Amino acid sequence: MKIKALDTYFLSATLPQPVRTSTSTISRVSELVVKLTTDAGLVGIGEAHGPFLSQGGPEAMRAVGQILERVTPLVVGQDPSGIERIWQDLFALTYTSVRGIPTLAPQRRQLVTAISAIDIALWDLAGKATGRPVHALLGGALRSRVPAYVTGFYYREGERPDDLRREAAMYLEHGYRTVKVKVAGLPPEADAERVGVIRKAVGDDVAIMLDANQGWDLPTAVRATRLCEPHNLFWLEDPMPWYDERHALRRLKDEVDVPIAAGETEFTPFGLRTMVAEGLVDYLIIDSTWAGGLTTWRKAAVMTELYQIPLAAHHDPQIHVHAVAASPTGFILESFADPTRDPLWFELFRERPKIVDGFMAVPETPGLGLELREDTLEKYGVKLR
Ligand SMILES: [Mg+2]
Repeated sequence: MKIKALDTYFLSATLPQPVRTSTSTISRVSELVVKLTTDAGLVGIGEAHGPFLSQGGPEAMRAVGQILERVTPLVVGQDPSGIERIWQDLFALTYTSVRGIPTLAPQRRQLVTAISAIDIALWDLAGKATGRPVHALLGGALRSRVPAYVTGFYYREGERPDDLRREAAMYLEHGYRTVKVKVAGLPPEADAERVGVIRKAVGDDVAIMLDANQGWDLPTAVRATRLCEPHNLFWLEDPMPWYDERHALRRLKDEVDVPIAAGETEFTPFGLRTMVAEGLVDYLIIDSTWAGGLTTWRKAAVMTELYQIPLAAHHDPQIHVHAVAASPTGFILESFADPTRDPLWFELFRERPKIVDGFMAVPETPGLGLELREDTLEKYGVKLR
């Protein structure tokens, strides 16, 4: 079997009301969709997203489109079962030229985003070609359902405590037992008060994660965490910027008792290795839709097993459910339950695995088990090539 075509779509949906983290305002969500078609007529679907796609607008779209155009000769004409070989070829472009294609070193980050979508589409194809779900190809599901938390409590213009209570009630109604709250966008005292309102609203049995989106420096992270700690925190995510994490995370871990989660901004298996091997995190977060696909996940899953670090997924639970289910340290999925935060999640698939009582059932259909809605591709999408 050979890959005959690589088609790319760029989807972008404007949110009805922008939401804010400590370091960015999210006014639209974007997704890159790659379709790989084989000479046998099979179609594999892959997705990628990332901060620069969401915030970069048409320029980001053009950049990724050009990269996909450039790397197509390393994908089309290949046997789709050679997933690792294709990954190695594409990844090598981060520092050198490959079979006549000039290096993409200056656009490394965008290249790895493109690789992510291609790689995920290859795993989907491999599943469809063998009639097996992707988790079976990753070693087989170790569990029949995977826990999922809900990310919410973004900062919104004109927010009042009652809005937080209403949002909490919506998540409890959906059956979630773990919620994630944005912090670091207000002074620490105000953030702690906000977390207190949410703790009261969800009760003592629901786990609360905090996500600072790299918005604090070390002294503020220590002070804010101490102020929030009385509200019983499950983890603290991305407290400080990426550029000094090796130093700052270690110092923060000496100062506070809350478990630290990080890794979603890493975009290679090697960056993830640093997090794990240097003991910087209690939970490793991976987003295979921007860190190089499920092939990167697989490499990181082995590391986290050997270092005994639970592994959590960032975004796209419909893809990560296979990976978390098949990983010995696989722990939890991230999800959204609010259509005003992620309209694409609610509209992109004809069938998508549901989250019931805070768990997603592991799909048993071939490949990823996803079918795209062509009307959604048309509504929000532009075909790049
Ligand atoms: Mg995060």
